[in-house]
Amino acid sequence: MSGNYGEEGAKLAWCMKSLHARGLITGSGGNASIRLDGRDEILITPSGVYKAELEHADLVRMRLDGKVLDGRWKPSSEWRMHTEIYKKRGDVKAVVHTHSPYTTGLSIAGRQIGPITPEVALMLPEIGVVEYACPGTEELGKLVSGRITGKRALILQNHGVVSVGRDLLEAMTAIEVLEEGAITTFIANLMGGAKVIPEEEIELIKRVYKR
Ligand SMILES: [Zn+2]
Repeated sequence: MSGNYGEEGAKLAWCMKSLHARGLITGSGGNASIRLDGRDEILITPSGVYKAELEHADLVRMRLDGKVLDGRWKPSSEWRMHTEIYKKRGDVKAVVHTHSPYTTGLSIAGRQIGPITPEVALMLPEIGVVEYACPGTEELGKLVSGRITGKRALILQNHGVVSVGRDLLEAMTAIEVLEEGAITTFIANLMGGAKVIPEEEIELIKRVYKR
């Protein structure tokens, strides 16, 4: 089935184009994957291919133990981070990793992104930061999987962001909300300081919007 990954392949290629168009990844950075239904297999973006130009035939199918099953390229160099997350979280069906500039920049400067908007308060109540580890290493994979329980996104210090979801859109949304929160925080800090939503209001938001 090389090169024909149906709807899942199309979604993954679209995801990378979309993230690139919004400046959340460069042509060489960032990656995404989808868990294939009922199997210990994922479809992941390749290494060394310009991310905004990805097509079905560029994607790589691999097992969670690292064995490549199908694909003309090597899997993303950060495949270990993806497989470690899937092994840890059975509920996760998609993983997205970006180098979101505002989110990453704020964390490099040691600034927190607090509950500054209702969306951030609701979707990302706790934004964990994973200490720096070399991209592509098993060490980074283990650090991320060790912190991903109960989270929708983690900031990777001096590197970027990784998010998870029950599908690709959910994982992408977490990346978008986090970056919007980072931009808003950045602007507010430039103008004199970012004030967060009071705790009682956050409780109300949770009651109104939580299913
Ligand atoms: Zn990266």
